[in-house]
Amino acid sequence: MEDCIFCKIVNKELPSNNVYEDDKCLAFHDISPQAPTHILVIPKKHIRSLVESEGSDTELLGHLTQVARDIAEEKGLEKKGFRLVLNSGLQAGQSVWHIHFHLLGGRKMSWPPG
Ligand code: AMP
Repeated sequence: MEDCIFCKIVNKELPSNNVYEDDKCLAFHDISPQAPTHILVIPKKHIRSLVESEGSDTELLGHLTQVARDIAEEKGLEKKGFRLVLNSGLQAGQSVWHIHFHLLGGRKMSWPPG
């Protein structure tokens, strides 16, 4: 998708600090980390938001959560805990319109999120 920064990252037109890649997804460090570990897990397929995902994306979205889980384990977060966040829409604070999970960990999280 033209003008999508995450599509440009997938296509290697923009740099990223990758932690995982397979044929369906990419995980890389957030450029503006909000926790000691802040990694984005994105599908290579352009999906604008969770609301705009379809039933046929269910397996792909499940794959992203499994990849996030494996990265959390690799980073040693599985015992202390971590947070997986998906912002959908303006009021949630979504700023990049290519669906992504934030994997956050390494500090105590507050609830409810601000
Ligand atoms: P959201 O606000 O949920 O849409 O999250 C978008 C995230 O993408 C933010 O945490 C940004 O810091 C992050 N971000 C934006 N541009 C880049 C980039 N070029 N590389 C890595 N992370 C980025």
